[in-house]
Amino acid sequence: MAIDANDFYTPKILDAQLTGMIKTKEPGLYSARLRIPVGILTSGVLEGLAALARKYGRGEVYLTARLGIEIPGIPGESFPALREELATIGVALAGCGPRMRTTVSCKGTVCPHGNVDTFALAWEIDRLHNDASILPHKFKVAVAGCASSCSKPQVNDVGLVGVSEPELDPGPCVGCGLCVEACHLNAVRLEGDLPVFDPARCVACGDCTKACPPAALKPARVGLDLYTGGRWGREKQVGLRIAGTLTPEEAVGAVGRIKGWYAAHGRKKERLGQTLLRLGARSFQEAVLEGVPREKWTAIDSRAEAAFATLR
Ligand code: SF4
Ligand code: SF4
Ligand code: SF4
Repeated sequence: MAIDANDFYTPKILDAQLTGMIKTKEPGLYSARLRIPVGILTSGVLEGLAALARKYGRGEVYLTARLGIEIPGIPGESFPALREELATIGVALAGCGPRMRTTVSCKGTVCPHGNVDTFALAWEIDRLHNDASILPHKFKVAVAGCASSCSKPQVNDVGLVGVSEPELDPGPCVGCGLCVEACHLNAVRLEGDLPVFDPARCVACGDCTKACPPAALKPARVGLDLYTGGRWGREKQVGLRIAGTLTPEEAVGAVGRIKGWYAAHGRKKERLGQTLLRLGARSFQEAVLEGVPREKWTAIDSRAEAAFATLR
């Protein structure tokens, strides 16, 4: 395969982008974008990548903002051989161009704040839905284990956030106040010896529940909140929440339906958030939450719609 810069933005480039070839400022040289779901690499894979970076590039790798790795300085004609050698260590070249990007996850599986198994969820989403199909534009999915949102799910086309809303069982409560200390948002205070919650301030991060020594606070509403239409680039949008407390299975299914809806309704070079502004979010919600219990749907009111505006 010989591809040079003149091939970019032609039908041929769609094949090149699928191979993970990223154009650079260096004439004739490209970066190889690797598919690293969830950002986890074994030491063996790291050693293999180091050897391939020396063999095909100049012995360097770049870390990307989405927990990925690129190997720079590779001649276009080396890509077929590089792809074959990457496969022997279990790594694929990543899709780019108007396609789904590798799914990003925070460290919620091991992080003490995590409310869900983010690694498993992100892997499953990537395994089932990340394919070579051409979409209107790039399509990004990110998973976070709690409301801290370290992986920035609200500025991805699809964002999933693990939530855990506290519920008090007053019997075991000893009035220690550790739940008050644990809350960063002043959403809980002690009245007498019992905690009182402010639902308007609580973001269901679950930290108070985890801090409670006698487990008087129970995780009452646990699951995944679903945001759609977020993006961060020349223009920005903060994703619109369309559902709450989904199970992992419901969330994985919704990602597939959202991607399908976007493929069918989006215009070329239009991100999902722009498509939602053009066609309206309510019909989209009806289509992509099919099969999800109605009580999990988030009402899209005028305030939510106003907040879902394009920012510059
Ligand atoms: S989003 Fe929450 S669970 Fe994920 S890494 Fe950040 S603090 Fe931990
Ligand atoms: S769940 Fe989080 S935001 Fe809500 S009261 Fe507990 S610590 Fe505060
Ligand atoms: S941390 Fe638990 S035991 Fe302590 S005041 Fe809060 S609810 Fe009660």
